[in-house]
Amino acid sequence: MDSFSTTRRDFLRASAAGATALALDLSVLRPVLAGTALPATAHEYRDYRDIYRRKWTWDRVSVGTHTCTNCASGGCSWNLYVREGIVWREEQGAPYTQTNPTVPDYNPRGCQKGAAASALARSPARLRYPMKRVGPRGGNRWKRISWDEALDEIARQMVDTLSTRGGVGAYCENGNNADFGPSWIAMVRFFNTLGIPVTENFAGSGDLMTGATATLGNPVPGASSDDWFRTDYFVNWFGNPVTTRIPDAHFITEARYRGAKIVSITPDFSPSAIHADLWIPVRPGTDAALALAACKVIIDENLHDVPYIIEQTDLPLLVRTDTQRLLREADVVPGGRQECFAWWDGDKNAVAWSASSAGVDPAQRTLKLAPGDHPVLEPRNAQVTLASGETVALRSAFALLREKLAACDLASASRITGVNPKVIQRFAREFATAKSAMIYAGAAMGKILHGDLVQRAQILLAALTGNNGRAGGGWQEMTFFELDGKLLAAFVDHVNDLSADDPQGIWAALAEMGKQQAQSPLYVSGSLMMLMNGGSYETQLQPEYNDPTLKRTPEQFLREAIARGEIPNLPGPELGNPDIVFNMFGNPFRHNRMGERLEKTLFAKAKLVVDLTLRMDDTARHADILLPSAGPYEKLGFKYSIAYPPYLHLGDKAVEPPGEAKPDWEILSLLMQRIVAEAKRRDVTTVKTYRGVPYDLGQAYWRFSDKERLGPKDEERIMEIILALSPATRGMSMAALRANKGALRYTGVSQLGKMWCGTTEDYRMDEPLVPYQDMVVRKRPWPTSSGRQQFYLDHPVFLEVGEELPVHKEPPRAGGRYPLTMTCGHTRWSVHTLWRDLDLMLRLQRGEPVIFVNPGDARARGIGEHDLVDVYNDLGTFVVRVKLTPGIQPGQVHIYHAWGAYQFVGGKSNDSIAASPVKVTQFISQGHMANGVGWYEPTQNDRDTRVDMRRHVA
Ligand code: SF4
Repeated sequence: MDSFSTTRRDFLRASAAGATALALDLSVLRPVLAGTALPATAHEYRDYRDIYRRKWTWDRVSVGTHTCTNCASGGCSWNLYVREGIVWREEQGAPYTQTNPTVPDYNPRGCQKGAAASALARSPARLRYPMKRVGPRGGNRWKRISWDEALDEIARQMVDTLSTRGGVGAYCENGNNADFGPSWIAMVRFFNTLGIPVTENFAGSGDLMTGATATLGNPVPGASSDDWFRTDYFVNWFGNPVTTRIPDAHFITEARYRGAKIVSITPDFSPSAIHADLWIPVRPGTDAALALAACKVIIDENLHDVPYIIEQTDLPLLVRTDTQRLLREADVVPGGRQECFAWWDGDKNAVAWSASSAGVDPAQRTLKLAPGDHPVLEPRNAQVTLASGETVALRSAFALLREKLAACDLASASRITGVNPKVIQRFAREFATAKSAMIYAGAAMGKILHGDLVQRAQILLAALTGNNGRAGGGWQEMTFFELDGKLLAAFVDHVNDLSADDPQGIWAALAEMGKQQAQSPLYVSGSLMMLMNGGSYETQLQPEYNDPTLKRTPEQFLREAIARGEIPNLPGPELGNPDIVFNMFGNPFRHNRMGERLEKTLFAKAKLVVDLTLRMDDTARHADILLPSAGPYEKLGFKYSIAYPPYLHLGDKAVEPPGEAKPDWEILSLLMQRIVAEAKRRDVTTVKTYRGVPYDLGQAYWRFSDKERLGPKDEERIMEIILALSPATRGMSMAALRANKGALRYTGVSQLGKMWCGTTEDYRMDEPLVPYQDMVVRKRPWPTSSGRQQFYLDHPVFLEVGEELPVHKEPPRAGGRYPLTMTCGHTRWSVHTLWRDLDLMLRLQRGEPVIFVNPGDARARGIGEHDLVDVYNDLGTFVVRVKLTPGIQPGQVHIYHAWGAYQFVGGKSNDSIAASPVKVTQFISQGHMANGVGWYEPTQNDRDTRVDMRRHVA
């Protein structure tokens, strides 16, 4: 290192001016080559070869991963090569041990974004200093200010607002680029202490699978990715894992080598479809018709697994023919239970109450049939005498399903989906007869209006064939190893008093947390915030953009649900006039459909907009004060504990943040100190949370910091608390993680959030994780009202709109009557917007936004390759380059997501014309479908958007 004289400060200055790629940026050397005077910082370089040779030298190697990056991978181990306080490059680690000799291992993990994360840290978009807006908001003119100036100004406005309006006068926009460590905990402790609501955006980004919640009682079921290897029939449905699951996709390839058949069901010939044995090019949005036609083939040909269906699903349960509602004990027995359902006993010729029902005494609840039980799947002439004395006829849910499926014959399904009937039939037979068949359910499914129906139809296919709960089988999304310690550290003031050796103390703390959250919940629905207050109300509720079979307007359904009190996390008009908007972990101008409307609504009303951010983006441009956040290699954190790799990943602090950037925990600790000091200076004491609960603002830092036991620099202590209080990480330590390249295999599953781990208690470190073992092996009830996989939903709204059973509904005309459907997908070259303008990634593609178009559609409009086109509908127009490909269906155009609006000619993105109609069944609340954030709530969608296009005229 003696001759390496570029100092860290000089380097950062250079990179801030636009030099982006290590010292290989030849602009530094140009004076040398020209024979002119050497710049002081490069005087020892003779030419570029010096840099090339010394590229492979370093001071030390640290370990890390990419926290606060929502790649949804669960993490990857990286060696970080540090020289003069800069991470110059990264290289994949290989610390993973084989689960057992029957499955491949996880080594190495990573993706090209991870390999370019050190470049991202130095990119021109990176924020290094606190900044204050100069000139009009959105004008993107800034001046550098000190941390003191920034924190004092925010603290003054916070105390103004809290003392006059309480927490209702502010809110925090929250995205999904958080960690499972001090950064997220800082946000929760800060806003929860102050009683300021935070938007939850799992549904807002369209990732929430409400069809899975409705059917399985779990929106995120899934296996570890080494279980993919064990399948005999892998169906990639609505996903693109080759692009979006780069570290795990090898298990699919390896399964294929093992002999598994790989099927891809996607409208476009996607990067994943290329690697399939069978590609089924379904018309966009018609997947439910395909799944239901396959179900009909399976039932018609007696390929369904009757014992499994009787034991594990609600299909034997009885439905009243007069009301179409499930028969409940309360209908028959005076004072009987509401959530107690019945099947028909063939021997006794009578109704029998299902012991799996949610209304049954927990000690008695089971899926196991008693020796004398003989449930019938399709009883004939079943009837019951009600408590009123009236007699009603009964039919099983299975009989009603068979009737509904009559409309899903192969010819009809072929007309709807565009898929040859023989292909549908072959798919159904192969799926049903495979030893294990798995549906890899892409999260894109949540991004169409009727995505819930697609999910329910797919899960039905997996259930009819007995695959849910089978090793290498079943409907799989993604699941989590919940870290109990993370929740405790976030929500419990006195977390330092808790100990894993004192379970009673932990349960008491959790009870306290539950009480506090019931009074003043931290989270409100991000998608409903946008709907109610973000300027998209009329558009999202526009009947013409919704299901044309609805007999009432979507707004009437919403008003009725509000009146019935079915939406507890509704951010109503009381939150529509904020003094302060704070933003963390996201880019709401981008991740919300029509997010740019925030500029003229919530942002326009705010006196102060604060963005705590890593880099400049569309949202940061519209803020007043920017607070520079440390990046993944510059702070401590744990990666999201997604279970594809059953490993916890440590994001270690390899280097100091550039400029004056700070870790989120430190920033919010310092800000809380300033708020309390300002409150004391002004003698402000009691203020109210946004739900009107009083608290002492003077005590806010005392509570936030757990009696000053968690200071601004105490990230490591928080990490230790998480490890100590989480059953999934029992026995782990920071030292052990560091010694094992930042990754250790989970040792157990959470008791608190067992459900998030696919509802299984018997996780073993030497076996792939398979969900639902508690139900299929232990016969414990599913977490649904019936205690079974629930396909019959009898809330009056489901009955009204004809969705009590899975059905196909035509995709809506979101955005108007236009001939093309604009689909979208997660991009290969960025994790959401974070890498979208990084030159290293742009060089691997076209360098600017492109839309993929079928050559026939382009020809019909006089459009050629690389032309600029106007893409338009009722909502507006955006301008984009065309890439022609026969891999896109006629009638479809496709654009990969997360381009910033500033990257388009004219500054408008595809998100600006995504009408995102709301699904009226997502307004309801019933039983296990209790409306709530991240569980069951309205989602945003964009992949039903209708458009047309024409050549752009400058
Ligand atoms: Fe792995 Fe995510 Fe990092 Fe890529 S960005 S290397 S998937 S942790």
